[in-house]
Amino acid sequence: MELAANIIKTQFKGVPTVTGGNATPTKDPCPFNRCDGSGLISFKKNGLDFMEHCECLEVKNKIRKIGELFDRAGIPKKYAAKTLDQYSPRNELQHRALEIARRYVEKYQEIKETEKNGLYFVGPTGTGKTHLAYAIVNALIERYQIPAVVSVVPDLLDLLRPKRENNEAENRLELAKSNELLLLDDFGSERESSWVTERMFVIVNARCERQLPTIITSNVPLDLLEKDVHGRTVLAWERITSKIRDMCYQILMDGEDFRRLSAR
Ligand SMILES: [Zn+2]
Repeated sequence: MELAANIIKTQFKGVPTVTGGNATPTKDPCPFNRCDGSGLISFKKNGLDFMEHCECLEVKNKIRKIGELFDRAGIPKKYAAKTLDQYSPRNELQHRALEIARRYVEKYQEIKETEKNGLYFVGPTGTGKTHLAYAIVNALIERYQIPAVVSVVPDLLDLLRPKRENNEAENRLELAKSNELLLLDDFGSERESSWVTERMFVIVNARCERQLPTIITSNVPLDLLEKDVHGRTVLAWERITSKIRDMCYQILMDGEDFRRLSAR
């Protein structure tokens, strides 16, 4: 598994690469060349047989856990290997966005305990907001082994649409409401129907009440999200944006585009 190989490279610099994402203590070779891969080292002392644990056990368990967390998170393949270092900012706002993203990863354990512990990345396509958001999630899983879940909002809505008895939909909704870290990708692109609005409120409200860190990407700034095409405030969306303002710092990725958008 390519991903696991990357993790090993970044997490355990200088340690020879173990193959396979689900390294088990019994099958994989010892990255330290100390045991036979079993995680146990046998030795003789004063004519007696002894066993001790090899340090590779801990490393392999950590790699396995990270692999499982990545599998569970549902990160689209396109973004599975994105890192903050790969992001090239092209203007001042994007430099600032990258700095915030780095600080967020660095201080996550402190930030998650605070009331406003999420990020709302907003910008048109091509500004790299999605890259930054996924890179944060990847980094948090790798660094702190936290459970994360990614939901591409239009896909999630598609799944939740009332069609039939659907356990997967229920599970996904429950995860979106209660998982420690959630990335809502492409938020607010659909907001016409009251059904969509209600679903979005349910998720945002649940996370707000539980103070769970939420990272959101959107093409729509918060002050436009709550307006209809005539510029009138839509109360149902105002309830949602008000929760998001309590939960998330809004990060603009492109000032020019928003000046144009707001002037329309
Ligand atoms: Zn070993």
